Amino acid sequence: MLKKKKGLILSLTVATSILLATGCSSSTGGTDSGKGKDGDLPRVGATIYKFDDNFMSYVRRAMQTSAKDKVDLMLNDSQNDQAKQIEQVDTLIAKGAKSLAINLVDPKSAQTIIDKAKPKGIPVIFFNKEPDASVLAGYDKAYYVGTTSSESGVIQGELIAKAWEANKDKWDKNKDGKLQYVLLKGEPGHPDAEARTKFAIDTIKAKGIQVDELALDTAMWDATKATEKMDAWLAKYSDKIEFVIANNDGMALGAISSLEKAGYFSGDKFMPVVGVDAIPEALEMIEKGKMVGTVLNDAKNQGKATVELAANAAKGKDVLDGTSWKLDDKKAVRVPYVEVTKDNIQVGRDAYK
Ligand code: BGC
Ligand code: CA
Repeated sequence: MLKKKKGLILSLTVATSILLATGCSSSTGGTDSGKGKDGDLPRVGATIYKFDDNFMSYVRRAMQTSAKDKVDLMLNDSQNDQAKQIEQVDTLIAKGAKSLAINLVDPKSAQTIIDKAKPKGIPVIFFNKEPDASVLAGYDKAYYVGTTSSESGVIQGELIAKAWEANKDKWDKNKDGKLQYVLLKGEPGHPDAEARTKFAIDTIKAKGIQVDELALDTAMWDATKATEKMDAWLAKYSDKIEFVIANNDGMALGAISSLEKAGYFSGDKFMPVVGVDAIPEALEMIEKGKMVGTVLNDAKNQGKATVELAANAAKGKDVLDGTSWKLDDKKAVRVPYVEVTKDNIQVGRDAYK
């Protein structure tokens, strides 16, 4: 079992280092990176809340691909530190950023960023962590690229309900007709974490399935923290747990490591696990039958849309110019979520290619 766990961590590490390696060309460098002709391209200042986030590393890669030969993308790792991110924004503005693409550390800090950009008329494209609508409305050059957070919860809830109905003879271990679950939550206050938690459970109940929450806690979107949580929950509830619901795949993978150590996924010891994102490591688990399914959170298109809007903004054009994106009444581009199970795994593969 230990060997398997190491394998998982290794594959995550390898994936991350490949991304880091391909990513370094435009990280923090801008025109100072010696890239030469980038100097003639419009400068876009960008921040990622932390590079060490599985999903965001895929968004980052998509941003770099889309920026190539189009804009000089000055990309910063905010290292999960809001104060650091604000300093980075100051520096980006000083370096001549014509627009900003900001993945906030704290979703509540959007106004602070706008207060820096607005006096200079610099457009801001927030992405992945949605600011309050009132804050976006307060600056005509502020936009959002992301998803409709609640949609991922609804789709995950539907997936859980379907799988439960089809397998409850085996999965309802205590035969009480109810689904006993533990839930690994993302970062508290993050719109995706809040909405996924609420709408997944509401949807299962709306399908007529009774549930019991054995435990719910944050593992901050993080695989290692999720393994620790799951270790503790298994020690406390062991066989009482009938379902593991995770707000993202990173935490689902962390839970699977813990479950493997406890002897799950061998013989007839099984635990249904679901996540959100459809990152390649999770698709692998779905293939192996260790994950029931996930919900595609389209990193590629979110990264692409972010750069396309930021590039247009940097050139003083309409942000949607020459693109196929649409803005809703909150000035947001929302990329749809899609259910992914073994049956349509290619949908996830294509999105992360
Ligand atoms: C993703 C998570 C990620 C988070 C970062 C969410 O949309 O599903 O995997 O950690 O964004 O803000
Ligand atoms: Ca039960």
